[in-house]
Amino acid sequence: MAGTIMIVEDEPAVARGVQVALQREGYQVDIAPTGESALERFGDLAPELVLLDVRLPGMDGFEVCRQLRRESRVPILFLTARADEVDKVVGLEIGADDYLVKPFSVRELVSRVKALLRRAYGELANTEAGRTLRRGDLVIDLDRRRVARDGERIALTTTEFDLLRHLATRPGRVYTRAQLLELVRDYEALEADERTINVHISHIRDKIEVDPAQPRYIKTVRGVGYAFSEE
Ligand code: CA
Repeated sequence: MAGTIMIVEDEPAVARGVQVALQREGYQVDIAPTGESALERFGDLAPELVLLDVRLPGMDGFEVCRQLRRESRVPILFLTARADEVDKVVGLEIGADDYLVKPFSVRELVSRVKALLRRAYGELANTEAGRTLRRGDLVIDLDRRRVARDGERIALTTTEFDLLRHLATRPGRVYTRAQLLELVRDYEALEADERTINVHISHIRDKIEVDPAQPRYIKTVRGVGYAFSEE
């Protein structure tokens, strides 16, 4: 099944047109009308690709791109209206993968999206087994940053995914809260303390465990921290 594509675009007609075109190709398409809402939703949505308009109310597309790049290597396709914006996209090395100049045809859009997705994930698809952790009923796809239980997709935030990946990579190994905190420090305010980890773990359990009160995957190691189950 094709994954989710996020379009960050404040013009409803453009956003809707793109959505319809990509849905016809089998993609799920989420519309974020502002950069701020895109950043807010990015972690939970974990899109496979982001279509990013340069001109947005509030935070502009360049800034959104910079911020996304702090946490993700997701393919980003810029939508620009003017030649000077194109120069900026190409010249600034802000981490965009490609761009389309408005107005663009639906056919052009679809072919660019497919090409980008192939480039980003195509080769990895062949070696998927090596980049996927299987733990009981859980499948953790490291490349697509996706988690599923019994084939059912589970939406995790960026922080939750990284914590889970870290723990699940080495079942049985005990991590202290301080060690796990180091992992999440990159995205979180400096005042985050070790209790933050408890909160994240609790959220992860709510999402991945059949019975969060009797966790099967992430075990609490009393007085120390957490470990992923070896079973
Ligand atoms: Ca716009």
